[in-house]
Amino acid sequence: MDLFYILAIFALVILSAFFSAAETAYSSITRVRFKAMAESKSKRQVWAAALGENFEKLITTILIGNNIVNIGAATLATLFFTRVIEDATIAGTVSTIAITLIVLFVGEVAPKTLAKRNPEPIAIFSAPLILFLYYLFYPMNWILGLWQKLLTKIFKKKGDTAITDEVLITYVDEAEDSGEIDAEESELIKSAIEFDDLTVEDALTPRVDIVAVDVTTPVDKVLDIFRETGYSRIPVYKGNIDNIIGILNEKDFYKLYMDGQKKIRNMMSKEVVLVPPSTKISDLLKRLQKGKMHIAIVISEFGGTMGIITLEDILEELVGEIWDEHDEIEEPVKKISDTEYEIAGQYSVDDFFDLFEIDRDPDDYDSVTISGFVGEILDRTPQENDTLSFDNLFIKVLKVEYNRIASIYVKVNKKQEDEELNEGLLLRGLKSSSDEESEE
Ligand code: ATP
Repeated sequence: MDLFYILAIFALVILSAFFSAAETAYSSITRVRFKAMAESKSKRQVWAAALGENFEKLITTILIGNNIVNIGAATLATLFFTRVIEDATIAGTVSTIAITLIVLFVGEVAPKTLAKRNPEPIAIFSAPLILFLYYLFYPMNWILGLWQKLLTKIFKKKGDTAITDEVLITYVDEAEDSGEIDAEESELIKSAIEFDDLTVEDALTPRVDIVAVDVTTPVDKVLDIFRETGYSRIPVYKGNIDNIIGILNEKDFYKLYMDGQKKIRNMMSKEVVLVPPSTKISDLLKRLQKGKMHIAIVISEFGGTMGIITLEDILEELVGEIWDEHDEIEEPVKKISDTEYEIAGQYSVDDFFDLFEIDRDPDDYDSVTISGFVGEILDRTPQENDTLSFDNLFIKVLKVEYNRIASIYVKVNKKQEDEELNEGLLLRGLKSSSDEESEE
C-alpha cells in the first residue's frame, strides 16, 4: 500500500514537471515561430502551433493540470506520512516540507530551466497531451475565461489603451536582436510605425530651395530652368513666391513649347494643393494619391509659402533616401574618423540624436534640421567657424550658405558617465594595486 502512495506521488510530481516545462516552453516561443510551425508537415508541430495561437486558453489548461497534480501530490503525501508517522502534527509538518521541496526542485525549477533552453522540442513533445487536456478542460477553461474577463473589467485602469508605438518598436528591436527579422526589415517596420506621427513640416523642401518661376517669365528662360535643375515640376507664382497660382509640368511644357505656345499661364496646371505644415504626411499621401497629384505647396500660418512637398519626400520617410537618375548624390553623414564626422545642415535632428545616441527628446527643440538646431542652441544666425558643445559633442560650423548651415564638423568626446566610470575603475585599480603592495 505504501508503495502505491510512493509511486502515485512520483507520477504526479513527474506530471507537475511536465506542465511546468510546457508552460515555459510555450511562453518562450515567439508568434513568428508559431506561424512557421503551423506551415510544417509534422502533425505535432501543427498542434503545437495551434495551441500557441490560443495562448491564453493554453496557459489556463496547463495551470488547471498543474494545480490538480500538485494538490493531488500534496494530499497523497499527507496520507502517506500519517500512515508512517503516528503523531498527526509531525506527519503533517514533514509532509508539507517534503512535498514543497520535491515539487519546487523536481516539479518547477528543473523543468523550467530545461524548457527555457529548448522551448521548441519541449512544446512539440508536449503538444498531444496538452491538446487532449485542452479539450478535456474546455468547460472549466470557459468558466475561468469569464472570470478573467470580469476581473479585467473590474480592475481595468483608466487610459489602459492598446499597445503604444514605443512598445511596438521595442518588439521590433527584440525581433531584430533575436534574428527573426534583419536590420533592413526592422528599419522599414519602425519607419512605418513612426510614419503616422510625421507631419509635412518634417519632410518639406524649404522655401529657400524652391525653384519657381513668375508667370511672366519667357518660355525660353523656363526651358533653361527645366534643363538646369532637372526638376519635373516647377511652381508658378504671380508677383512673388507667396502667391503660387499653378504648377508647370515638364512633359506638358515641352509639348506645348513645341506647339509654339508662348505663355506660361496657358501651359501650367491651375490645380494646386495647399497644405498647412501640421498636416500628417500619411493624410497628404492619401490626398495626393486620390487627386493623382505629385506636389503640394506648404503654406505657413501667416499665409506665406513655407516650402513644397512631393510624393518622393513622403516616401523617403518610409524607405529612406531615394536617388533619381539626375540627383547629385550627397551623403548627409561623412565619417572622417572613428570620432569625427561631417554632417549636412539639412540632416534631421531626430536622425542626429539617434546617430550620436543623445539621451534627450528631439521634440524638446523647435528645429527640424541641424542647421536650425545649431542656430537654436546659439540663439542667433550661425556664422562659419562658430563652435559649441552639446552633450558629449564638440560642434563647429563649417559652411554657411544664404544664412543657412550647409555643413558642420562634429567631434564625439567621451561621455561624462563613461569618464566617471573609467576614473572610478582607475581609482579602484590603483587602490587594489596599492593594497596588494602594502600586503606584500
Ligand atoms: P520626378 O522624380 O517625378 O521626375 P522630380 O525629380 O522633379 O520628379 P521629385 O522626385 O518629386 O522631383 O522630388 C525630388 C526632390 O526634389 C524632393 O525633395 C522635392 O521636394 C524636390 N523638388 C521637386 N521639385 C522641386 C522644385 N521645383 N524646387 C525645389 N525642389 C523641388
